[in-house]
Amino acid sequence: MKETGSEDKYLEWLDRGLSKVPKTESRDRLNVPSVECISEKNKTIVQNLNQIAGLLNRDVKHLLKYMTLRLAAPYSEIGEGSYVFKGRILPKQLDTVIADYIKAYVECPVCKRPDTKLSREKRGIVQLVCLSCGAVSPVKSL
Ligand SMILES: [Zn+2]
Repeated sequence: MKETGSEDKYLEWLDRGLSKVPKTESRDRLNVPSVECISEKNKTIVQNLNQIAGLLNRDVKHLLKYMTLRLAAPYSEIGEGSYVFKGRILPKQLDTVIADYIKAYVECPVCKRPDTKLSREKRGIVQLVCLSCGAVSPVKSL
């Protein structure tokens, strides 16, 4: 009899190793979609902010506040999860603002993971609490 068992075992081991790789991506990093927007002459309608805020596990109002400050453009809600910002804002600008928001208010500055939450604002102090490594980092209050 020829020895083929070892190869079978190897393949079995390989299989097992592969099946250990999680199917759903772990939250080592976020897959945030691009901002969907319609830029008009003097207004910009943004359609998927609720979805983005949901992915980031943040209140959309907090995200909107940040965007308003960064873009220096007031917004209003127009229903069905759409928001309109004053002025013509390019999609690229919006994506940059979202990326900056993630860096400032979502990503843990210690381990860089996005599984974090913001503590309640107390006397203007907000803390970013990391659920992965436990680090507590102060962030700017909005
Ligand atoms: Zn962390």
